Amino acid sequence: MLLTTTVGSFPKPDYLVKARNLFSRKKISEDELRELERKATREIIKLQEGIGLDILVHGEMERADMVTFFAERLEGFGISGLVRSYGNRYYKKPIAKGKIKRNHPIALEMFQYAQSLTQKPVKGMLTGPYTMCDWSFNEYFPTRRDLVLNLAEVVHQEALDLDHAGAKYIQIDEPAISTRPSEIDLAIEAMKIVTDGLRAKTVSHICYGDFTTIYPRILSLAVDQLDLEFANNDFANLEIFKNPRFTKEIAVGVIDVHSHVIETKQKVKSNIKRALEVFPLEKVYIDPDCGLKTRTLEESEAKLKVMVSAVREVKEEMGLK
Ligand SMILES: [Zn+2]
Repeated sequence: MLLTTTVGSFPKPDYLVKARNLFSRKKISEDELRELERKATREIIKLQEGIGLDILVHGEMERADMVTFFAERLEGFGISGLVRSYGNRYYKKPIAKGKIKRNHPIALEMFQYAQSLTQKPVKGMLTGPYTMCDWSFNEYFPTRRDLVLNLAEVVHQEALDLDHAGAKYIQIDEPAISTRPSEIDLAIEAMKIVTDGLRAKTVSHICYGDFTTIYPRILSLAVDQLDLEFANNDFANLEIFKNPRFTKEIAVGVIDVHSHVIETKQKVKSNIKRALEVFPLEKVYIDPDCGLKTRTLEESEAKLKVMVSAVREVKEEMGLK
């Protein structure tokens, strides 16, 4: 009960950022880059074990971006020059130029490597078809629905690989859902295809948005668990989930990933208790609001230690465990 986890990304160490730059200028080989990604993954697994988290992530050391990473490895996508996104971040945007096909497994190898390093479950991490479409240009498909449903088949194949490899949790991130509530039915249609027949517990992380526009429709998303942010707006959105009642498992964001400030244990305990007033104890997981890649490693570690220790104290106070 109250198992602790994280949303997915961890900050990349300087040596990996440097190696990625060198690789893009062809100064080091792909094998050298991959070895450094594995080294960074080992460090992130060790860090999470040290902190005492229950469900680990591989840390996404091999992914520069959650959409472009997959698009670059799929047939049918081209990649644009740098495009401006939120604020001042620039990234390369995928362009759908033909039927999207997967010629080889993409997420599997790093999942298997990370899981081989620990006895604890590591989540298999995928980007959902709706977000893949929303963050790409479309130069081929007649409608966005055509592109999303093609991507759903491809992400389903990725999910099956992870499932067959023994992943206990498979997370399919759909952060774009909340920014376009008018298309939520399409995202729901696509997720049914992605998670069809999986044995693993399935999770979807949704962020950035105003949940009033997508609740309770998101309860129809074909996953066992939703992973949502709460700390960033000081749980103002908690009210939304009281009526109608939330029916899935929920991973509650109790740590603000946009702030340098390390939360106090008291604050995090109070966040957890507020969540437990609305969500049933047996369905609650505890994690940060979003991925930690914008924080430093030191900030990430400090925030997660406070989180794990707050959960322990709440459990003791409730007479659990
Ligand atoms: Zn997020």
